[in-house]
Amino acid sequence: MVDAYHFAPMSEHPLPKMIEPFKLVTKGAIVRGSFELCSLLRLKGELSNEESTENNFAEVELAFERDKLGYASASGFVKARVGMVCQRCLGVVPSPLDAAVNWVFIKDKSSFEDAPKTYDVIIVEDEAVSLFDLIEEELLLALPPIPMHEEGECRAPDHQPQSKGFAESSEVKRSPFELLAGIKKKNG
Ligand SMILES: [Zn+2]
Repeated sequence: MVDAYHFAPMSEHPLPKMIEPFKLVTKGAIVRGSFELCSLLRLKGELSNEESTENNFAEVELAFERDKLGYASASGFVKARVGMVCQRCLGVVPSPLDAAVNWVFIKDKSSFEDAPKTYDVIIVEDEAVSLFDLIEEELLLALPPIPMHEEGECRAPDHQPQSKGFAESSEVKRSPFELLAGIKKKNG
């Protein structure tokens, strides 16, 4: 019998947009592949527009199985290398994203509370869920909160006023007396 997904035992790309997790668990399927990040619009909104296309792929590997407690689960990883906007110089910061996946699928909301807390619980109302949406969620959570270049790689000038708060500049460290002296000199 040929099924719709051809996942068993392993699938190479392209990744399907929709998956039926309970069927995959029954088969013990491993889903592996890559896909273009441009289809993830929420994620795209967080990234630099200058990013070159070569880094715009996500790599995914997920093992579907029934865990020891009998839950339908999927575990593995989602990896991508994206370009974000440096908060100091507004240039592109290459940011590797590496998210560990630990999902458990349940059929109705009422059992949500009972599901083990070591998982991210995903409610599957119909048989199918969007794999892309789930992956996008993982990648969004893996984004650095304040992307910045390493010191020395940033092209922001050292004493830019708007870098205050992020970068230590000598302006900030200067003592109030020195500043006062400067003002006095100007006036006199
Ligand atoms: Zn920078």
